[in-house]
Amino acid sequence: MNKRTFFKSAAMAGAGLFTIRSLAYGENGSSIISPLMPGPLTNSKGEYILPPLDYPYNALEPHIDEQTMRLHHDKHHAGYVKGLNKATQAVKTAIEQNDYALIKYWERELAFHGSGHVLHSVYWKNMTPKTTRPSDTLKKYINRDFGSLNNFISYFSAASKKVEGSGWGILAYQTGTDKLVVLQAEKHQNLSQWISVPILVCDVWEHAYYLKYQNKRADYIRNFMDVVNWDDVGNRLDHLLSLK
Ligand code: MN
Repeated sequence: MNKRTFFKSAAMAGAGLFTIRSLAYGENGSSIISPLMPGPLTNSKGEYILPPLDYPYNALEPHIDEQTMRLHHDKHHAGYVKGLNKATQAVKTAIEQNDYALIKYWERELAFHGSGHVLHSVYWKNMTPKTTRPSDTLKKYINRDFGSLNNFISYFSAASKKVEGSGWGILAYQTGTDKLVVLQAEKHQNLSQWISVPILVCDVWEHAYYLKYQNKRADYIRNFMDVVNWDDVGNRLDHLLSLK
């Protein structure tokens, strides 16, 4: 598998910088679900939809019980999908009316429900009642980045166990570095959606503007927008579109 093919099969994600790959895929890539693609995450109109499970609710017994699966998929995940569609509509209205009074609230909703939808969609696919093994490519990356499959399992399990409060243990692929990394996501929103790759970023930490603009962040943002390199932004989008 060359790098291009590998990228192509990678599902994009990220609190900006990371991509998630499903662990459960065949060597021919036939069962890969890429959140980059429409399909299970959205319908043809771009509305978010609840993807059905690939197996019966009781298929993972006794490891994961049927009642948990029903509640988790039909209530919790469905709630994220509903909330994400609602937040998406609210943002659309805000743009149309040029009214951003509640934008902080809706951005939080977008991140919370968006990450919930994306991560659960990967989670269901990451599990199967069948016996499976890591592909050669996955094994190669795991061995290179973590030493061995056993090391990875210990590390991933420990990181997942020690997530403070609610959240996720995540194995992610980074497009910029060609590395696998394990990350903890506390809760899961933190104002990001675990599927997004940044193509335009504005640093609003004070160190980026305080010397010149002091507390006037809006002035800094206005000036930043005047120096945006749209060629670079466009190139980044082109690159991502080439991976679809
Ligand atoms: Mn959940």
